Amino acid sequence: MTAKNMNNYKINYFSVVVPVYNEEGCIQELIDRTLKACKETKMKFEIILIDDGSEDGTVEILQAASKKHDDIIISCILNRNYGQHNAIMAGFSIARGDLVVTIDADLQNPPEEIPRLVAKAEEGFDVVGTIRQNRQDTFFRRYASKIVNKVAQKATGVNMKDYGCMLRAYRINIVKAMLECRENSTFIPVLGNSFARYTCEIEVKHDERAVGDSKYSVWKLINLQFNLLTCMTTFPLRVLSIIGGLISGLGVLLGAYILIMRYFVMGEVWAQQGVFTLFAILFFICGFQVTALGIVGEYIGRIYTDVRARPRYFIEEILGHKKKEKKK
Ligand code: UDP
Ligand code: MG
Repeated sequence: MTAKNMNNYKINYFSVVVPVYNEEGCIQELIDRTLKACKETKMKFEIILIDDGSEDGTVEILQAASKKHDDIIISCILNRNYGQHNAIMAGFSIARGDLVVTIDADLQNPPEEIPRLVAKAEEGFDVVGTIRQNRQDTFFRRYASKIVNKVAQKATGVNMKDYGCMLRAYRINIVKAMLECRENSTFIPVLGNSFARYTCEIEVKHDERAVGDSKYSVWKLINLQFNLLTCMTTFPLRVLSIIGGLISGLGVLLGAYILIMRYFVMGEVWAQQGVFTLFAILFFICGFQVTALGIVGEYIGRIYTDVRARPRYFIEEILGHKKKEKKK
């Protein structure tokens, strides 16, 4: 996207939100490096660390850091594990900056990249995404991620290359829009983009996990990918109707073919004494059932959209309106 019509906007204050789950081995280094990187921007900032129900010594480290850097390092302790994306949402709800940067605690995304993100956002972008260079993850993770990115691009209509990287910057109005969404299964980068007008991506370094293992098991990952898909679209439900329609159509075609062959071409010996006819009928009924399921799915999809009760739109500014000059 070109920055043609974008207004440059001044960032006076930015927040860094970090979800932390059992990261006692690397959290202190993350705090130190993030502090150093943020100071380089010469702007006012805060670092919000969300403890997502850690069972190791993480909480004590966070408490000590907050005590040492009063009003700069904010620790928010959740009472149990709610998952990375919910933890980030908790961080959003207390962020005070004009811009919010999210970053993982495991040092896979180097905190030294934060000033670059802030500078890019200052050019006027609503969301600044990142593309991981030389991604240091397993082959399985990288391949799955490729497919997921393709689906997300289609679903959001926003052409970003790497939805999986959580080192991102969001303007505060995008964050507020995300907070208005009441659904529980969210995938933040996709949700953020659905409210963004000007987006861009910059390339960032990617390191191996500093200590410990990934906090995502295969099942948690699969759940996350489903969140990503269902957070944007109910298209999978529509696929049912389409498949059902195709199977039914096939049944009708087969039936017609059998009829023609039986009466005009081959005579009584054709079609194995009705076995093929049975196939045609079965195809048709099968297809009918799947179509019916798809239609029920369409209703469920609409219920799902309404239950989420996402705001329909966000007004950025109203001009020439005497009483309400600015509504946010
Ligand atoms: N995380 C979290 N809650 C969870 C799982 C993960 O807050 O239930 C945090 C974790 O501490 C890290 C980030 O989310 O800061 C990303 O997790 P991880 O590095 O394990 O994921 P991966 O890099 O393997 O995708
Ligand atoms: Mg990681």
